[in-house]
Amino acid sequence: MTKTLEDVKSDLGDCRRCELCETRTTIVFGVGDPDAEVMFIGEAPGRQEDLGAEPFIGAAGQYLNELLMIAGLERKDVYIANLLKCRPPQNADPLPHQIETCTPFLRDQVRAVQPLVLVTLGRFSSQFILKTDMGITHLRGRVHITGRYSVLPIYHPAAAIYDRSKRPLLEHDFMLLKMLLDKRHEELNLGQSQGQYLERSLGQNLEQNLEQNLVQNLEQNSEQNLVQSHSGEAVSEPGQQLNSDKNLFSRL
Ligand code: SF4
Repeated sequence: MTKTLEDVKSDLGDCRRCELCETRTTIVFGVGDPDAEVMFIGEAPGRQEDLGAEPFIGAAGQYLNELLMIAGLERKDVYIANLLKCRPPQNADPLPHQIETCTPFLRDQVRAVQPLVLVTLGRFSSQFILKTDMGITHLRGRVHITGRYSVLPIYHPAAAIYDRSKRPLLEHDFMLLKMLLDKRHEELNLGQSQGQYLERSLGQNLEQNLEQNLVQNLEQNSEQNLVQSHSGEAVSEPGQQLNSDKNLFSRL
């Protein structure tokens, strides 16, 4: 049986499963709509988040709130969580054993929310969800499919606080998120109106086919938009599209 977010929080309890419990102020579980269509997955709490017990409430959080508007969303519409629920001292990079110990709770959160789209913020969460060593520069700006989820890797908003050249890329990716959501809604409506017939005709291949079309359409649309808005100079990296792998997410 799928756990609720409350169940997951209860399982986590006053977690002392890794050494980060010694230095944290609070556990930062996650926040937002439990039925959100979009779930953001960051890296780990920073100083503000550690004190406030909520993800993305510092400067990066303010910028994320601005970016959400580009996709026609507000913070209350989405769910936000991190790979790690406790702040690493001096905001150090998450260590492999910390990720391994903490992410079963993230997996249960994703299963509880069941979003249409996972947006991974930065290198660590993108590489973890997509099970790849590829850098964020090559992963971002494209939709990847893993299991039942569409995954959109983007730069971490904190990176754009210090490096403003990343802002147009982040804004581009939130436009892509809007297109992706519009497309998913279109397909869900199509699925509902033609439900039984499509189910009989296409069976389990339906979702896979729709998602493959979605990726192609998004890439075409995105490229068209880029050409229009950047005078023929595309800002997308020529990254490699990951293959659909229905087992990837189950290995979280
Ligand atoms: S980081 Fe995760 S596993 Fe480690 S103590 Fe915090 S909640 Fe527990």
